[in-house]
Parts: sequence; C-alpha cells; structure tokens
Amino acid sequence: MAGLINSEDIAAVKARSSIEDVVREHVTLRSAGPGSLKGLCPFHDEKSPSFNIRPAVEAWHCFGCGEGGDVISFVQKVDHLSFSEAVERLAQKLGMELRYENGDRPREEGLGRRSRLVEAHRVAEEYYTELLLGSPAARQARDFLRARDFNSEHVKQFGVGFAPRGGEDLVRHLRAKGFTDDELVTGGIAGRGARGLYDRFRGRLVWPIRDITGDTVGFGARRIFDDDRIDAKYLNTSETPIYKKSTVLYGLDLAKKKISQGRRAVVVEGYTDVMACHLAGVETAVATCGTAFGADHIKTLRRLMRDEAGLAPARVIFTFDGDAAGQKAAMRAFADDEKWTSQSFVAVEKSGKDPCELRQAGGDPAVQALIEDAVPMFEFAVRTTIKRFDVGTAEGRIQAVRAVAPIIASIRDQSLRPEYTREVSGMLGLDVEQVATEVSRAGKIKVDEDARTERSDRGDRGDGRDDAEPHVADGGGMPVPDRRDPVIHAERQLLQVLLQFPAVFKPGAIDLLTPEAFSAPAHRAVFDGIRIAHHSGDQGNARAWTSAVTEAAPSPVAGLVSELAVDTLPTRMDASTGLPTSRYVDELFDRVRTIALTRQIADSMSEMRRLDHAETPSPERTRELGIQLQTLQRELAAIKAGMG
Ligand SMILES: [Zn+2]
Repeated sequence: MAGLINSEDIAAVKARSSIEDVVREHVTLRSAGPGSLKGLCPFHDEKSPSFNIRPAVEAWHCFGCGEGGDVISFVQKVDHLSFSEAVERLAQKLGMELRYENGDRPREEGLGRRSRLVEAHRVAEEYYTELLLGSPAARQARDFLRARDFNSEHVKQFGVGFAPRGGEDLVRHLRAKGFTDDELVTGGIAGRGARGLYDRFRGRLVWPIRDITGDTVGFGARRIFDDDRIDAKYLNTSETPIYKKSTVLYGLDLAKKKISQGRRAVVVEGYTDVMACHLAGVETAVATCGTAFGADHIKTLRRLMRDEAGLAPARVIFTFDGDAAGQKAAMRAFADDEKWTSQSFVAVEKSGKDPCELRQAGGDPAVQALIEDAVPMFEFAVRTTIKRFDVGTAEGRIQAVRAVAPIIASIRDQSLRPEYTREVSGMLGLDVEQVATEVSRAGKIKVDEDARTERSDRGDRGDGRDDAEPHVADGGGMPVPDRRDPVIHAERQLLQVLLQFPAVFKPGAIDLLTPEAFSAPAHRAVFDGIRIAHHSGDQGNARAWTSAVTEAAPSPVAGLVSELAVDTLPTRMDASTGLPTSRYVDELFDRVRTIALTRQIADSMSEMRRLDHAETPSPERTRELGIQLQTLQRELAAIKAGMG
C-alpha cells in the first residue's frame, strides 16, 4: 500500500534515482535535441522513436501512445509493479533503507513481493554455486563443465550452480534465511507435495536466468545423472510473477550493452552456447529459456538495438543446428522475419556443431568465424529449399522455383522483392521474368503449415518427371514415355524411322545424334542400341537390323524396340519409293536435334548462372561451360541455316 512508505523516503528515492539510467536498462537512447533523449517506446510497438525523456526534470513521455510520468511510474509500468513495489525496487538498487509510516513491519511484508522473490533467487543462486564449486556431491556436475572446457572462473562469472539431490536441501536453506513457504512456491523454487515442500530442481546443473536488469528471476536446470527420475534434458522455472519465459533471454544482462552499442544480437540455443560465445568474444549472445524465439523476445531486442525505420538495419544472427530440426526452426524464424526492420542472419555450422562444441574443437576463432560467416535469413531459406531439388534438370528447376516463390512472396517489404527475384533467378539459372511470374502467383507462405512440408517432400521424390511420364512396374525402373507430349512424340517417330527405314538416312547422320538428344530415358536406351548396332553395320537387312538393335539395347526396352519397329508411322509414304518422304525425315531429325540442343543450352546456361552465385566459384568449370555453350550454339545455328 502506497501510504505505508515514508513520504520523505519516496521523495528521496525519486530524487536519487536517475531516470536516464533506469530507462537505459530497457531502451537504447539517443539525443533528441538539447536536454532531451529518445528511443523506441517499451509500451507500444513502433518503428520511429517517439518515447522521450528529459533527465533535467526526471520525466518521460511517449508521443506515440501518450504514456508518461516519472521514474517511479516508469518502473511500475515496465516491470508490472505496484507503486510501493516500484519504490522498494529503486530503493534496493540505491542501497537505501526505507522507513514505513506504521513503524517496523515484519520482514516478509516489509519488502514488496517481487523484491522478496528476487532475494530468494539470489540466495538460492549463491547456495547452488557454492555447492558446485566445493561439494563432493557435485563432482559429476563439475566434470560435465570441465568436459566442455569451462573452469571455476567461468562458473563464478556466469553463476552456474549445482542443485543437490536430497530433495529439500534448498527449501531448508531458504527457510533458515527467513523465506516463507508461500514465497518459495510462488517463486517457483519449491513444489508443494503431500509431505510438504520439495526442491523444484534436484541433482541438476543449474544456470541462473536473469532479467534485463541483472536480477535472477529463475533457473534453467540440466539433467546430468542417468538415474534422474525426470527424463527432460532441461527443466526451467515455470511462469511466476517475476519469471515470464516469453520475454526472458538468458545472457541478456551480460549482452545488452554490446547489443545496444553494436546494434547486433546473436541468438543461440543453449546455456552452454551463451557461455561459449561470450568467452570467445561474441558478447552479444543470448538464448531463449525452454521456448522458441518469439514476438516478445523480438520486442526486447528491438528496443536495445534501435531497430528503427530510417537507420541502417540492425542485425540479428540466429545459430541453428544444421540438422532438419534446426532448419525447421530457422524457417519458422524466417516466417517471423517480417516483424523486423532489422535484418536476420543465420549461422549454420556445416558439421552441425553448436557454439559450445565449436569452441572446444576450434577455439575462440572458430566461434567468431561462425558468427561472421552468417548469411541473410532469406538466402538461407531459399538455399535450404532449393537443395531439395535437382536443379540440373529443367523439371527440377521449375519445381524449385515453385517452392521458393512463396518465400519471396512472403517478404513484406515489396521493394525488396525484385532484388530477391533476381537473386533466385541467378541461383536457379532461370529468366527473371519466369521467377517473377511464379512469385506473383504464389500466395503468402505459412511455414508452420504441415501441408507445405508435405508438398515439398513429395516434390523431392522420384526423378522429377512424374508428371510427364507415369511409372510402370515392369519397365526395369524406366518410365514409359508419354506420347501426348509433342517432344516425346517426335522422338518416338524418329526412332521408328531409324528402326524401320535405316536406309533413308544420309551416311553419318546417325552420328550427329547423341543419346542426350532423347529426353525420355527409354528412348535414350533404344537409341543406344541403334548406335551400337549401326556401328556393327547390320542395317542392310530389315529383320537382322531390328534384332541387332534389340540385342544391343538394354533388356528393359526390348518390348519397346519391337513396338517401334512395327508401329505405323503417322505420315504418308512416298508413293514411288514406299519410304517416308525425305522432307518428313529431315524435319523430324532437325526437330529432335533442335529440341535437344535447346535443352542442353538451357542446362549449361543455368549451370553457369548458378556458378556465378555459388559460394565457392569454379573458374575451370565456367570456362568449360563457355566452350560447351559455343559448340552447342554453333550446332543449333547450323540446323537453323539448313546445313545440319
Ligand atoms: Zn509509446
């Protein structure tokens, strides 16, 4: 109750607290003209700072949401405290003893609830750390840390501790220090069972989780004993009046100054990763505690990084495991990306090491390099998606562009889309217009939706030709060519002519064709047989020719060879010779070659464009492709000029 604190003391607390210092705990400020500072408002979402303070008059006001007041009201609002709790909190920070109007009150009520709970956590943390450093029972916990290259100095620096296995050791310790059972239960330190209170964390390594001002408000506890009755690898304090897992970030108290200065934050996955990063010099590292990185975490970081429109974008770097779960997490974070003005980056270690393992394996430079090599979230999302497709084929490229188009379409800042569209067209080796068409067609993605994952999984399977060529069980694994496809239809006729009327071809003509000229694998196999038989010189006699081809071709296409050898050609024969007209044969021949060359040119150009955007350039391959392209284009030009 407000009236209980001596009014002179309230005035003294107000006078001695610096509003600038208190606000700076939460918001990064910059000058807003003489005697005035501004930053992003902690009480409403905004992209341009309208939260102002005037240190000379100890006042704050937000022109965006209209909130304002003095240092006490700021603490009340930002920490969700009552008036007296806010005064007590400030007094505690100043080291001031408060007087109360009704004389000395009992200790438990003398401090506000928040202060009591924070104090209980401070005492518990001290107790845990002492045990970790000295107790024989904590040997396993010490071994765990030592195995990860953390020593006793690091233990003290981060306040790591050991929760004893007994079951009520901490409860007894805190009761002896004057804390009530209610405080221990409310604070999440103890549970209440049939036989009374028990320690919430037993036989575990514990990390103190501190709020942005440095107060310990909860613990994260890791399983270290095989016979731990609780399977969960990590246990965290559950929601309490002072612990909100959706906002708390482990390491933020240590990192916030650097985050604010560098306008950059690194989000890692575990407590040991935060430790490893800080020790390796990446002092902007934080981690969520038993929950995914969410909207409230974003808000907290934004205010520190001055994530404002009009400024150079701040950077948030996420480290994720290279495994599927990590990639899924990254994709989810990408879906949240549009809530930021800042740019999100992803650092993924290729062998899947987390920062803690990386520090052990490669020392501090390896951890620093991981963070420095982070790639933009957009690029990561696109690359991860493209990897699922075989972009060496035209079909794979189309599937890939359809899969990434929704990602580009989901970028809220429309002015960025053309640039990303260009980038993807380069990665896939497709026309910018083609990618742009797919992007405008694509709806906005929701990466969380399982439907999307399923769809991409399906696209992953098979040989990418499912649509054009349905599989058959007895085809020796080779799809049956779909005759409705005009390209396939032309290929088929050409093979028919080759099998039925080999004499109509000019000498050497067959050598102009390569197996790659045929897009259907079954056709390619038949042509292989034709080539081999041709070189053994059997085409004089029609029947001998067919059996020679059947002999030479792979056995799964034997049926197809005989089919092609007898099927009627869809053209009128020359009445005088009984053979297909030379015009029909020439057109067919040129058509199949033109299609094949066009396809090969597209594939080469696509590979070249991908090389231009590759992480590791390969000048040799680029040169090779250049020569190949010239040859193909010359051949194509010759066909068009009628000299093919
Ligand atoms: Zn505001």
